[in-house]
Amino acid sequence: MCRVTSPELAELAELQRIVEQGGAHLQQRVVCEVSVGDDLRLPVHAITLGNPDPALPAVGFFGGVHGLERIGAEVVLACLRSVVNRLSWDVLLHRQLDMLRLVFMPLVNPGGLWRGTRANPQGVDLMRNAPVDADDRAPFLVGGQRLSAGLPWYRGALGAAMAAEGQALCRVVQEELLTRRFSVAVDCHSGFGLHDRIWFPYAHTARPIPHLPEMHALNALLDHAHTHHRYVFEPQSRQYLAHGDLWDHLYLRAHEQHPERVFLPLTLEMGSWLWVKKNPRQLFTRHGLFNPLIQHRQQRVLRRHVGWLDFIARAACGHAAWLPQGAAREQHQEQALARWYRGVRR
Ligand SMILES: [Zn+2]
Repeated sequence: MCRVTSPELAELAELQRIVEQGGAHLQQRVVCEVSVGDDLRLPVHAITLGNPDPALPAVGFFGGVHGLERIGAEVVLACLRSVVNRLSWDVLLHRQLDMLRLVFMPLVNPGGLWRGTRANPQGVDLMRNAPVDADDRAPFLVGGQRLSAGLPWYRGALGAAMAAEGQALCRVVQEELLTRRFSVAVDCHSGFGLHDRIWFPYAHTARPIPHLPEMHALNALLDHAHTHHRYVFEPQSRQYLAHGDLWDHLYLRAHEQHPERVFLPLTLEMGSWLWVKKNPRQLFTRHGLFNPLIQHRQQRVLRRHVGWLDFIARAACGHAAWLPQGAAREQHQEQALARWYRGVRR
């Protein structure tokens, strides 16, 4: 078996360069290894920096869960690169790192990235593989299926353990985020629709989550801080329901363990159809449906979303000042129900 840390996978090599540049400011660990074929093993890394004190908030950035959506991994790598490049001079960044823990897992599914597939090398869609069943309105196939690993959106065999990559992600979230009173996770994807969307749970049911007021308050904070942002902020269930969503699973687990804590999982869904619309030839390549293929467009995509990830880190740092309490919380709840859940049976 040859262990690859890799020039073979460009994103892994890039991660290694960034980590070396960050030196003693970062901690890197291999949280699992995945086999691709008979003779290749790829590591899944978690990188941490900032203050480890569990009394402080934490933010986790995740990418590459779907191997085909390379731009998701690249956005998280670009965010980490920006942090590392500023370590030598940015005194405000160091103040922030005194008050915050940052976690990066940019390449959750390196085997899928290597093979250019949405699923992991066993054909399992990591975002359909968690032990959560959607209600019966989940769409056929897209919502997750157990018919065959040869078809997309495969949930894995009934009763089988969660895929190693998904387990590794859950462990990192459990150890680094759920140990805190306040944490946010951002998982970067692409491939859905014309608009950039920020999704929050649930994916398995149209019902609202217990932290709906906090999600609505975070959305209001974004609207005020970045007046002209173009993100559509909404529960995933407004678009479609799905089985096995990892973030539903982790959110449910977090809420069951510590209902007094706040864990806000967000999924960035970059609207790739716009890239295709502007460059229809992309339609004829598999990667083109999920990634911007023209360099200036890719740079614009990275710029925009790295700015949003920075906003999330700032919001986490200052959470005590904006998390709604008492009557304000009830008001956010009412506004959120009117905006996102009108007509939903609860
Ligand atoms: Zn995805």
